[in-house]
Amino acid sequence: MTLADSTTKMPVRERVAELGQRVLDGGEISRDEAVELARIEDNADIMDLLAWANRIREQFKGNKIHLCSIVNAKAGACSENCSFCAQSAAYQTESPRYGFVDPEPVAEAMSEAKDNGVTAVGLVAAWRGLKEGPMLDEVCDRIREMKENGKSRPDASLGLIESQAVADRLKDAGLSCYGHNLESSRRFFPEHCTTHTFEDRLKTIQFLKNAGIKICSGGIIGMGEKREDRVDLAMELRAIDANVVPVNILNPIPGTPLENQEPLPPMEILKTIAVFRFILPRKEIMIAGGRTVNLRDMQSMVFTAGASALMVGNYLTTLNQPVEKDLQMLSDLGLDPDWDNDFADQVSGGGDCGSRCDCDDQPAEAAVTA
Ligand code: SF4
Repeated sequence: MTLADSTTKMPVRERVAELGQRVLDGGEISRDEAVELARIEDNADIMDLLAWANRIREQFKGNKIHLCSIVNAKAGACSENCSFCAQSAAYQTESPRYGFVDPEPVAEAMSEAKDNGVTAVGLVAAWRGLKEGPMLDEVCDRIREMKENGKSRPDASLGLIESQAVADRLKDAGLSCYGHNLESSRRFFPEHCTTHTFEDRLKTIQFLKNAGIKICSGGIIGMGEKREDRVDLAMELRAIDANVVPVNILNPIPGTPLENQEPLPPMEILKTIAVFRFILPRKEIMIAGGRTVNLRDMQSMVFTAGASALMVGNYLTTLNQPVEKDLQMLSDLGLDPDWDNDFADQVSGGGDCGSRCDCDDQPAEAAVTA
């Protein structure tokens, strides 16, 4: 293969190098250029792309890997109909159902996180969203307890927020980062969810940013979207300046509309991660739900493809490989868990700039999605 597409007459290898060097030098790639990269088919060319994404990760993130874990704070019976999600009440799945979590399991998760060098623990709830009232009071109590516990950074992924007052309450309780995935492109979103809109998600993010809360936002790939949709998702995440970008890979859940969805090939997944790194050079690109089942023996290659963060421990409705195995993988690769991530390395200066979670481990690893 000699050309990525008809817009340039340059061999793919040289074109990837040109764009990679531009990002290393602090520049940006456009949406069309990102689509060029996403359309690369040849495995040798994809390996070139991964090598450049690895260089970009090393330049902007060093050898630090940000680790996150989640606590399923309220499971099942969600009113929304996200087609990948085991926790939607619209589908018959094996997902457990229970009400809002007590303080003890959260404290246990914080201790486990500390023992494993995990930077953040996210409180994740399967419901439409959070409004003012007794439930918000209880959520704020849990966040305050997590903050006082101090063993890990308290994060949360609690669905849609429809007023500034709610976001401000979360900030006052001590929340520093909120997970709210855009899930997919603006074009593709209505094909996997009709109970709320892409715009609703953007509004939630704006309330959170106004409150001074860091944003963890990414999506799920492998739902039947086009390559261009994945690029458009990454461009939206660049526009909202998300701090952490979880990339979930669909793990089809029996009983959901996507139960028979054809899985993405591992090389296509790795290429997508690399394109995200080109678009979001300074952000934490976090590999979340679906990595074990979709990448199998190729999991360690996510770092070569540009990932700088990993969700460890079990997902919301599916299992992950043991944390010890993930830590061994990082050690073997010469990578260090980032014990103290405060996002300071995302500030531009000598480089360019470029964004974590809500619910996708989805159950399809609807993990950090809510
Ligand atoms: S992804 Fe989140 S909002 Fe959508 S159905 Fe699942 S728990 Fe509800």
